[in-house]
Amino acid sequence: MNYIVNSVFNSITYILPTGEEKDCYLVDCGDVEKVIEHGWHVKGVLLTHAHFDHIYGLNKLVDIFYDALIYTNEAGREGLMNPKRNFSRYHDEVEDFVFAFPERVVLIDDGDKIKIAEDMWAEVIATPGHAESCLSYKIGKYLFTGDSYIPGIKVYTSFPRSDKAAAEQSVNRLLQLQKECCLDIMPGHLVTE
Ligand SMILES: [Zn+2]
Repeated sequence: MNYIVNSVFNSITYILPTGEEKDCYLVDCGDVEKVIEHGWHVKGVLLTHAHFDHIYGLNKLVDIFYDALIYTNEAGREGLMNPKRNFSRYHDEVEDFVFAFPERVVLIDDGDKIKIAEDMWAEVIATPGHAESCLSYKIGKYLFTGDSYIPGIKVYTSFPRSDKAAAEQSVNRLLQLQKECCLDIMPGHLVTE
């Protein structure tokens, strides 16, 4: 699995090559420079949720890859457009983040399938709780869980819009799916001891 550990909060951007030259999709978007450095051409970004540490590179990204599509749900779109909702307002690590290309957003939700490559589909799983915008993605034998499930860490549900009960249900659903399909969990942050 190709990935970048971003400079803000060790969030992770995963790189999914489509197999066509250097085309790829990303899961979340932080330090865009590192993606460009490696020569990738980004076709789209699957967002696990719209908190600033998972989205802060999007303006720079779409500025360069102007035809890239950004996949999220309705709550995610609201988060992209609102620095209070995405929390960039409250953190010094990044400037206020407002997504400058709302026309690039594609709304998705539970059960949708996104074609990544000829033989690769992303299955969308709504996993609300940590945030309303939380989506997980099953792609091949991988399960991208964002902050909805980070192995070894309790899901953070103390934000004003978090929902603790929903978060527990989401974790159970993800674990069930992992077990059924023998999936590798790809969480939204690199966890160091
Ligand atoms: Zn988060």
